[in-house]
Amino acid sequence: RLEKDFREALHHHHFTLAYQPIMDVKTGKVAKLEALARWKHPERGYISPEIFIALAEENSMIVELGNQILEMACKQWCKWRKLGLEFKLALNLSAQQLAHPDLSERIKTTLEHYDIPPHFLELELTETTAMLNVEASVMQLKSLRNLGLEIAIDDFGTGYSSLHYLKHLPIDRLKIDQSFIRDLTENEQDGTIVSTIISMAQHLKLEVIAEGVETQEQKNVLRKKQCTHVQGYLYSPP
Ligand code: C2E
Ligand code: CA
Ligand code: CA
Repeated sequence: RLEKDFREALHHHHFTLAYQPIMDVKTGKVAKLEALARWKHPERGYISPEIFIALAEENSMIVELGNQILEMACKQWCKWRKLGLEFKLALNLSAQQLAHPDLSERIKTTLEHYDIPPHFLELELTETTAMLNVEASVMQLKSLRNLGLEIAIDDFGTGYSSLHYLKHLPIDRLKIDQSFIRDLTENEQDGTIVSTIISMAQHLKLEVIAEGVETQEQKNVLRKKQCTHVQGYLYSPP
């Protein structure tokens, strides 16, 4: 039933995007915005993206949804630019999108169509997504980066992490998963893990974003640990 409704929603372009700011710790300014997909079901109300993204992945509708999301985000970017606002945008990418041979061509054409310089777009993918087919991922990510896009590893620390491949993946930043941030102020082990990720990232010349920052205390701890970017309800919900 949900799948049928999903197809219908896809057909009628009923998905929307919510944007959540990613903040620069030092300047306190918005560094970029992450686009998060939203679906308001006519009877059931908002359905969690965890549910409909998984459904879309199972039924190979994620590529079509991803294409619509790319279009929506680009249109929104143009609206903001007309108002004098130039934000970098981060989009989430799923495995099937990454594996799709047309991905970088489609992104290139879309950015050209909307006259958006590629460095305004960043793609987030999980370690697990990147590791499904490492060679293919490396090639795809290289071609995206050659276009001028930036790449972030999402939910870092929760997936199939291979430090060996981290060295080979052409990426720009890591997003520390919110599960490490949640108890950061009480749990010493989480503190150690977060410090270790930040220090490793610094050595690899990667930027770090901490996700799920909800309190001032968490932010203060992260700042002390030299985390440069934060995202979470403390600043704004999506
Ligand atoms: P994600 O990419 O890790 O996105 C972060 C999630 O954390 C979002 O949930 C966001 O609303 C939530 N969040 C942000 N700040 C806080 C905070 O301070 N505390 C807590 N507890 N949560 C916070 P959301 O929007 O429900 O999205 C869930 C997941 O669905 C995303 O996780 C992402 O994996 C997937 N998703 C969402 N939009 C898209 C999309 O356009 N494409 C793809 N492929 N996946 C998407
Ligand atoms: Ca994300
Ligand atoms: Ca995440």
